[in-house]
Amino acid sequence: MAVRVWFRAMWYKGFRVSKVILTLPHRLYRGTLVKSGGRGFVISVWFCSRTPPYLCSVSMSHEGMVYTDETDDTHEGVVLSNAVVTSRVIMGLERFKPDSTIFADEAVLRDGYRPDQLIERDNELKQYQSALKPVINGAPPKNLFLYGQTGVGKTLSSRMIIERLDEDQQNLDDVDVHFAELNCKSLNSSYQVAANLINEFREPEEQIKPTGYPSGMIYTMLFEELEKLDATHCLVVLDEIDAIGNDDDILYKLPRANDNGNVRNTSVGVIGISNDFTFRDNLSARVKDSLCDEEIHFPPYDANELGNILKQRASEAFHDTTASQLDNGAFELSSDILEDDVIPLCAAFAAQDSGSARQALKLLYKAGDMARDEESDCITEEHVRRADEAVERDKVREELGRLPTQSKLTLYGLLLLEQESALPAKRNRIYERYVLAAKRIDADVRTDRTIHNRLSQLTLKGFLDVREQNKGPKGGSYYEYEFSIRADIVRDVLQGDSRLQELFDGIDGDMTLDKF
Ligand code: ADP
Ligand code: MG
Repeated sequence: MAVRVWFRAMWYKGFRVSKVILTLPHRLYRGTLVKSGGRGFVISVWFCSRTPPYLCSVSMSHEGMVYTDETDDTHEGVVLSNAVVTSRVIMGLERFKPDSTIFADEAVLRDGYRPDQLIERDNELKQYQSALKPVINGAPPKNLFLYGQTGVGKTLSSRMIIERLDEDQQNLDDVDVHFAELNCKSLNSSYQVAANLINEFREPEEQIKPTGYPSGMIYTMLFEELEKLDATHCLVVLDEIDAIGNDDDILYKLPRANDNGNVRNTSVGVIGISNDFTFRDNLSARVKDSLCDEEIHFPPYDANELGNILKQRASEAFHDTTASQLDNGAFELSSDILEDDVIPLCAAFAAQDSGSARQALKLLYKAGDMARDEESDCITEEHVRRADEAVERDKVREELGRLPTQSKLTLYGLLLLEQESALPAKRNRIYERYVLAAKRIDADVRTDRTIHNRLSQLTLKGFLDVREQNKGPKGGSYYEYEFSIRADIVRDVLQGDSRLQELFDGIDGDMTLDKF
């Protein structure tokens, strides 16, 4: 039987896992590292025995030195039940000393960090757990669909629930659940998801290339893998499944694998997770019927909830900071590092914008980073305000950077007008300048109408403001555009685009029409 051993350990920056060895009574098994990040890593070890492992050792190398540590049943947090080891290995090393008076452990504020506690999600967790109860009773699993905006705890909740289910099933003789988790972010078709899933089930030397098979065949291969599993159930978690867009065949085929007779020996359940509401609304009727036995909505967090998440995390991240949980679940913070307004302000900014814990944590991290850079003793409200601006700027930059060339050329037209102090400007004046710029870099010159549409899109995306000007009953009305973000940011991003580089050559600060 193939068993995946979850091995959690302290993770030190710069260390590489070089060897993992699992010692069973009579044999050694070599493992492979499947995931690492934050302060932990997960190692997959395949072996063919139901005998519990007695010892698991991990070697890490750092600058030519190799350090080894072992788990044993006297280690804190070790669970040895059936064939699963969950362990926290503290390497036999001194802790790296923090170089700042601000952070005790900044990694806990990073995105990949996996906290021990999920805060403010009791209802969703209850619903999630109860939807998976049939599995533990040996019945076929329900198919679930989790949705909500990014940063609201969907991935984290899922991981926690699955780990718990995995742990609890170890005590049951007649239930054996296999889990397959796949992040579909970079996969844009059902075919690619199916091919990657097949590889999740297969050992490294049997992996397939993710292209080139007829689509019928890829599903047959996937069903064969499921059929072969020595497990009563298989739960397949497809995170960020919205990436597959309209091509949602897999979301019909996989949840129906048992009903349609494609897989008989293993009960298959699918947990689909989506960040995108339109994806849920656009699922075909047959997919809705098969996938959504149960839908769980993760709403955005409000400022209060974000405050509690941040307080708990801050107590691990910063020096001289402690948080205690009150009977009502709320957290109370006491800190020499964080001024009183810091957390409420981070929570308020993130709640107003997105309700995302990811954004709130990023803001707090950035504020701490600024305080550290300035060698300040504490984080102030002022740091948070500046961090918010910086985070916002990064976001705008990213979005601008992703725009197609024609939109960038349109923005370039506005930049020229800005240099001439001629903003806000009518669309025909922007168009004139757009044409010059497009010709200069040998891009297609689109029609006035197309550029008008681009201007509307840029306005919708929040890069431009538009104003209607009325010239009285005879003069009619027209629209004027200007930047709603800072022009120097636009200039910076456009200048960084190699295709547009030529437009900035030799004009230095003087971006006037004469230069063309
Ligand atoms: P999603 O999958 O919905 O985009 P994640 O589960 O990845 O969101 O959460 C985003 C970040 O916010 C992660 O760093 C996670 O640790 C943190 N987070 C989200 N919700 C909570 C929560 N309820 N308690 C603690 N941390 C949370
Ligand atoms: Mg996620």
